[in-house]
Amino acid sequence: MRVAKIMLHRYEEPPISGTKGSGAIFFCGCSLRCGYCQNAEISRGKIAGEIYSPSRLAAAALQLQSAGAHNINLITAGHYLPRVKEFLSIAKPKLHIPVVYNSSGYEKAEAVRELNGLVDIYLPDYKYVSADAAQKYSAAADYPEIAEKAIAEMVAQTGEYKEKDGLAVKGTVIRHLVLPSLSKDGVLIMQRISALFPAARVSVMSQYTPSFNRTDYGELNRKVTAMEYNRVLRAAQQLNLDGFMQSRDSASDFYTPEF
Ligand code: SF4
Repeated sequence: MRVAKIMLHRYEEPPISGTKGSGAIFFCGCSLRCGYCQNAEISRGKIAGEIYSPSRLAAAALQLQSAGAHNINLITAGHYLPRVKEFLSIAKPKLHIPVVYNSSGYEKAEAVRELNGLVDIYLPDYKYVSADAAQKYSAAADYPEIAEKAIAEMVAQTGEYKEKDGLAVKGTVIRHLVLPSLSKDGVLIMQRISALFPAARVSVMSQYTPSFNRTDYGELNRKVTAMEYNRVLRAAQQLNLDGFMQSRDSASDFYTPEF
C-alpha cells in the first residue's frame, strides 16, 4: 500500500476529530478522477508516498492510538482492499478506538461487504444524483447507482449512527460537497438520503474551492454561494435529517456541530 501521510487530523466532523484529532491514514491514488479534485497531489499519485506492508501499517495505527487519536481513519483505501483487510485483521484486535472508512462512495457493494466487522464508521461521499454530472465531472456515469448500493451496504453493516461522550462510535455519515450550479442536485441527494438511509447522519460541506485548470469546467470556477449552500441545508432541515454543516466564512474545513 502506498501511503502519502499519516497524521492526527483535526478538521473532520466534530465527533470524528474530537479534541485530539482523528488518526488519518491518507492512501495514494483514488478510484475516481474528479476533474475538480482538491486533493489531486495525493489522488493522482503525484506524491509517491511510502510503501507500507499490512504489519507496518498496523504498527503505525497503534502509534496513532498511543498518540491519542480518537479513531483510525482510512482515507481513500478502496483500491488496496485485500491489503487493507490484512492490515485491519492485524490491527483491529489491538485497537480500542473505532476504525473509520473514508470513501468517495465509488465502491462495489461486494467490496464493502468484505469489510464487514472490520470497520465501525463509514464516511462515504454521495457526490452526484445525475449520471450526466457524474460523467462530466468524474468520468463515471454509473456513480449514482454504484454509490447508492455501496452506501446501502455501509448502513446495513453499521446500523443506527451512535456517539459516546461526543465521539462517533458506529454508523455511517454521508458527506455531500455542494458544487457551484449543482445545489438542486444537492437537494435531490438530501431527499434520497432521507428516503433510503434514515439511520445515517449527513454532512453538508461548503468547502469547495476551484483549484483546477480546465476551461470546460467554467461553471465550477467559483466558490459556492451562500444561497446555493443554504438551499441544500434547508432541504436537509425540512427533511429532519440529522448531521453537520460547515461554517460559511472559512471554506476551510471548519465544522459547526449540527444544523
Ligand atoms: S473522489 Fe475525492 S480524492 Fe478522489 S478524485 Fe474525486 S475529489 Fe479527488
